[in-house]
Amino acid sequence: MLFAIFGLLLMRRRFNCIASLVDDSGNILNSESDLFATASSYFSGLFTTNGSSSVPEILDNISPVISQSMNDSLMRPFSKDEVWNALRYMHPLKASGVQGLHYVSDLLLAEPKRWNMELLQAHFNVADIKLISSIPLSVVNQEDLLVWGGESKGEYSVRSGYRQLISHTINNSASSPIFKQLWQVNCPAKIQILVWRFLQNFIPTNQNLFSRRIAHSSICPRCHTYEESIEHTIHDCPSVKAIWNLAGYGWPAEVNQVCFFQWFSWIFAHSNMAKRLVFLILIWAIWTSRNKQVHENVKQDVAAVYRFSMNYAQEITSVSHSLEIPQNSMTVKWTRPSAPSVKINVDAAFNSSSNRASSGVVVRDSNGLVLGSCFIPSGNISSPFAAEALAVIHGLRFALELGCMHVVLESDSLTTISKLKSGVDDCSLLRPYIADAQSMAQAFYSCHFSFTPRNGNEVAHCLARLGQASAVDSYWVEDVPPQALSLVQADRRCSDPP
Ligand SMILES: [Zn+2]
Repeated sequence: MLFAIFGLLLMRRRFNCIASLVDDSGNILNSESDLFATASSYFSGLFTTNGSSSVPEILDNISPVISQSMNDSLMRPFSKDEVWNALRYMHPLKASGVQGLHYVSDLLLAEPKRWNMELLQAHFNVADIKLISSIPLSVVNQEDLLVWGGESKGEYSVRSGYRQLISHTINNSASSPIFKQLWQVNCPAKIQILVWRFLQNFIPTNQNLFSRRIAHSSICPRCHTYEESIEHTIHDCPSVKAIWNLAGYGWPAEVNQVCFFQWFSWIFAHSNMAKRLVFLILIWAIWTSRNKQVHENVKQDVAAVYRFSMNYAQEITSVSHSLEIPQNSMTVKWTRPSAPSVKINVDAAFNSSSNRASSGVVVRDSNGLVLGSCFIPSGNISSPFAAEALAVIHGLRFALELGCMHVVLESDSLTTISKLKSGVDDCSLLRPYIADAQSMAQAFYSCHFSFTPRNGNEVAHCLARLGQASAVDSYWVEDVPPQALSLVQADRRCSDPP
């Protein structure tokens, strides 16, 4: 074998050899010595500058990019200080950073303090720029502090750590929005949990038990004909098919022969909330009825299971409606401040997809008369809590500009008001806003912070919503925009003078 390959290589070498060459004068050369001499002279002349006498003319036509001073700067040797600085600012595992950027403060602009967007855009990617620029900056100088975002107080707790971990796990496992939609249905948790187990195939059907060697057969205990999969037990078993026909939930033609998960997703995608509720109850009722038959030997009529499910759905709907009535009828009205104080009502609207927020502010005196109102849109806001805290700052600033001296500031954000009233140094993500608001409060003769439910904060809420549709700040002196006028009048009518 080896000999055969060697023979082939010899043949290839024989066929690959050069038989003749043509030199620069056009002579055909055949002898081995002529071939060698011509090839040698060709290759030795290939990398020389012979024949390139026009190089200076070519270079004259190329305009220089590096100036003489730049060239001098590039060519001079590194100084001791330059080498030392480069080494000092180098991360142990990274190359030296961009010149001039050593601290976070290098990315800030002063008066007013803000992120230098030009520098951010030059050195960070879009996602990082969004995160960095949404970090609130305080006017008041504060020590840097590491805060935990999982708790409103900014301090780590096992509970919040666990919660973050779980939400992360759930978000990863439930890539389908179907899980979120399942938990949004207003129905008893026992039903949602059972359906969630169906979606994960965590149900002790005979097929599942048999595959784990717990049951001795995978056949359906009701029809004794087919394997009892989750699809069979809920939908395909002849003993339950009639229920779905009665309820009007077909096995759609375009998703024929699909798994439970796909069928469930299809039904949810084509149903409103009421129909989703009935659907979940039917699954729960069918499984309960199956267990009654298998474990208690009680066989339920198809019509009875269907009737029970419909009645149960109706009961849940009517209970949830009756629970909503007291909430809607609960009226907390705006109240007038006691003279000489004026009341600043603030609220925020927040759009989580664009990270844009809008503050709504209205300032009224003890007669319920408007001294001024405004809405102020802002970008790069990290959370609704940050938006609410920023609205407080906007409210205080506006009242100072109006010349108010005694103020009561009302917000419907309990978190913000609690932090403002607390004497403890805030360690949360809202820390810069809280510090600024507390510092601004010192500028008034008196300044009190107070919580009010949404019903007592309707005008500020309306202004905040209006600001969402606007790109610029808008101010009204002794007035409000037309959309908020009826709310101001209603507040004035309903509030008795103190
Ligand atoms: Zn069956």
